[in-house]
Amino acid sequence: MAATATWERTDAGYTGVQADADWAREIRALADERDAVLLAHNYQLPEIQDVADHTGDSLALSRIAASSSASTIVFCGVHFMAETAKILGPDKTVLIPDERAGCSLADSITAEQLRAWKAEHPGAVVVSYVNTTADVKAETDICCTSSNAVDVVRSIPADREVLFCPDQFLGAHVKRETGRDNLHVWAGECHVHAGINGPELAERAAANPDADLFIHPECGCATSALYLAGEGTVAAERVKILSTGDMLTAARDTGARSVLVATEVGMLHQLRKAAPEIDFRAVNDRASCRYMKMITPAALLRCLREGADEVHVPSDVADRARASVERMIAIGKPGGGE
Ligand code: SF4
Repeated sequence: MAATATWERTDAGYTGVQADADWAREIRALADERDAVLLAHNYQLPEIQDVADHTGDSLALSRIAASSSASTIVFCGVHFMAETAKILGPDKTVLIPDERAGCSLADSITAEQLRAWKAEHPGAVVVSYVNTTADVKAETDICCTSSNAVDVVRSIPADREVLFCPDQFLGAHVKRETGRDNLHVWAGECHVHAGINGPELAERAAANPDADLFIHPECGCATSALYLAGEGTVAAERVKILSTGDMLTAARDTGARSVLVATEVGMLHQLRKAAPEIDFRAVNDRASCRYMKMITPAALLRCLREGADEVHVPSDVADRARASVERMIAIGKPGGGE
């Protein structure tokens, strides 16, 4: 019974609780008691997605968090996403079920490193992908998602240097699209990138000649696939660069009977629910984010019983970070973040 269930803290996350019907009932009852709305990122475990009030991508969830009447937000995702929810909704209590759920892409640049980089390029405009910490966003002029990264960089006068961080694949894509020589790219990456490499992508596409290829551009783990598609490694007509929402719409509308999905494997759960008749396969089924999977049934139960872990962002950092996020929302079509 979940009512008596206890959990064990391990390096990989909290364990020891089954996601059964009693667990789901207790989660929903505790959420009501706390006046909490449960948000789950698309890359969460299926049982976490199914018990949540809303699933989606990071920016969409942050917007829901900010406009929700609930006083508490439980953000089932990684830490920078919960921080973004706090930045956009500073008066709310924001909880993440396990604060150790980080992001290797966000961790690939610190605010201190960014300040040092800015000092080497005085006057440069800093553009940061949304997968960054609040401290890095506070040092940023304009945040971007993959959907509007090119538009954001085009909005900057051609004679101004641009510092683009932290994703090197997205940076390379933007540099190629804009043809800018004065765009400097930070050499960061997501550890899940390694699971979606060029030869594997080409091999899977060749072995499934009738399959569409869905690439989620806002996902850090798919930006290498985006780059390869742009290079022509995979035939352009089969490649659909889609946001999460558009991916679900395309799943319902596509004539293809099979679809290869180049993103984190958690997305398959939503796609299979949207179009059960289609054979959705991961380009690489090892493309699983261990940080996302730290939000376990045990972690969510602990979070709601104990009101932990709470996410704090100092107000001066939040104010500066909010300005860069709001500029992102104002330019082009920002999509949904990762
Ligand atoms: S998949 Fe990569 S970019 Fe996304 S949260 Fe995990 S580590 Fe970060």
